[in-house]
Amino acid sequence: MFSALSDSLDKTFRNLRGVGKISEKNITDALREIRLALLEADVEFGVAKEFIAKVKEKAMGVDVFKSIKPGEQIVKIFNDELTHLLGDDAEALNLNPPAHILLCGLNGAGKTTTAAKLALRLQKEGRRPLLIACDLYRPAAIDQLATLAKQINVPCFTPDPDEKNLVKVAKQALAWAKDQQGTALIFDTAGRQEIDEKLVAELKELHRFVSPAETLLVADSATGQQAVSVARHFDEAVGITGIILTKLDGDARGGAALSMRQVTGRPIKFIGEGEKLDQFGVFHPERMASRILG
Ligand code: GDP
Repeated sequence: MFSALSDSLDKTFRNLRGVGKISEKNITDALREIRLALLEADVEFGVAKEFIAKVKEKAMGVDVFKSIKPGEQIVKIFNDELTHLLGDDAEALNLNPPAHILLCGLNGAGKTTTAAKLALRLQKEGRRPLLIACDLYRPAAIDQLATLAKQINVPCFTPDPDEKNLVKVAKQALAWAKDQQGTALIFDTAGRQEIDEKLVAELKELHRFVSPAETLLVADSATGQQAVSVARHFDEAVGITGIILTKLDGDARGGAALSMRQVTGRPIKFIGEGEKLDQFGVFHPERMASRILG
């Protein structure tokens, strides 16, 4: 992830560092190149534009022109703004027990895998997570969650295969969870190829019933601009409290990761970096910025 973007930035910054005395034109040229690199990496147009404007405003400050190493200073401004764009600080989950955590997202984004990853993480922190399968459309998804749950030794609620009433399933799941004395309940919901009204209506109903402390959108970082519009839609539907970006281990361009926070105003809380259940971690904006800067 980010390799093409990192290469372009590296080249631009190397050129800038090579300039002895920096002029306004040097900065403008460099920022134009950076803007192109961001757009090529699939960063949303408005986000790229605003970001560049901010870097420019700061870089044009007299300090840069006076400084001994103006190139370095601009790299620093860029780094700071990038960290800010990504969200400044890592954001924790609201985990007051029994914490209800609803995962939503499109099919294939990595919801089911992420549900198990999150359960494993919470278990390692000494909590008692429970997994709840709420995808009533794909029996395979229920089996997949049950299999993953077994691997990590986390109890899993699986609905009756003939039951099609989601609220009824959620009601049964909550009664089961009470008996299990779980402290964090992770609900894996049905996805779709794309957002449709039925999905949204069902999700809203489940959301209302479960009243989750966290509603996390699981988004595939490789889907570029689409991931951003998906985030907008889910947020409008149920009000997401955060984003989990999956597949950051892939070779996609990574622009979605850069646009998500800005476009939705919701923090990226976790990242998935592989198919294995321990390839998951808290999202650190600063680390991500350093990774992008190479
Ligand atoms: P769902 O349809 O949203 O529930 O998605 P799944 O959990 O079934 O995941 C779809 C595919 O993506 C599976 O093959 C997962 O192993 C894979 N996957 C999930 N998260 C990651 C990740 O962070 N990195 C990689 N490389 N693959 C992932």
